[in-house]
Amino acid sequence: MKYAFVTGGSRGIGRAVCIKLAEQGYHILINYKSNEAEAKITQALVREKGVDAELLPFDVSDKAAVDAMLGGWIENNKDKVIEVLVNNAGIRQDALLMWMTDEQWKSVLGSSLDAFYYVTRLVVTGMLTKRYGRIVNVVSLSGLKGMPGQTNYSAAKAGVIGATKALAQEVARRGVTVNAVAPGFIRTDMTHDLNEAELKSLIPMQRFGEPNEVADAIAFLASPKASYITGSVLSINGGLYS
Ligand code: NAP
Repeated sequence: MKYAFVTGGSRGIGRAVCIKLAEQGYHILINYKSNEAEAKITQALVREKGVDAELLPFDVSDKAAVDAMLGGWIENNKDKVIEVLVNNAGIRQDALLMWMTDEQWKSVLGSSLDAFYYVTRLVVTGMLTKRYGRIVNVVSLSGLKGMPGQTNYSAAKAGVIGATKALAQEVARRGVTVNAVAPGFIRTDMTHDLNEAELKSLIPMQRFGEPNEVADAIAFLASPKASYITGSVLSINGGLYS
């Protein structure tokens, strides 16, 4: 019983990833924070691929919740193995640094950087024991370039990039790879409030990306085919930044 665990799998990029990994034959554990209706849609789309889909709602930035829900699942499912982990959950709370509130800083760092730590340390142990695993972290162009108005988001994603590179070296000998993908502007709820007509002129491909275009790259990095790729950060941004 091989599972892929996707954080933030209810919507957007996470949903597309759940479906692609189901096509690779993985049963899917779908995490989300609160949007049960959307999570159930993802669950139905995954089941259409002929695999199992379990919902695992919890806040990835809450250590106690991660330990209870994810730790509990691992403890109660010793016959199952999580072979793929996609750390995808994340939020934006944009503000210039001089106006930023502690809550905006903490919630953005929490849902990306703290979450990477809380979730990955629980899952990587089983991968090391089995001597196989694929971890893909969804970061951002903002974490590579830095974006004004996003010091919190840029710091969170840059932090995960550093952690990706460090962990990759820690676990490489045991057949576990750790990579990151860095999307630019992708058409999801997260970018709904942005002016696409204006912003697309900045993008060499002259358009926002689609969740599937990110999910395809994640599915490759999560597959056995990506066996000699680790510690890398793959930009998926239509040529916006390299
Ligand atoms: P989205 O459509 O807004 O979906 C966000 C997902 O994350 C939802 O499933 C949401 O669950 C979940 N989530 C948020 N906070 C969570 C928490 N604390 N605990 C558990 N789940 C949580 O976002 P998206 O555009 O697909 O983004 C996915 C990832 O790609 C994020 O890490 C984002 O930073 C990154 N990214 C996106 C873009 C872009 O242009 N869209 C660009 C670069 C990077 P609920 O449905 O329950 O709220």
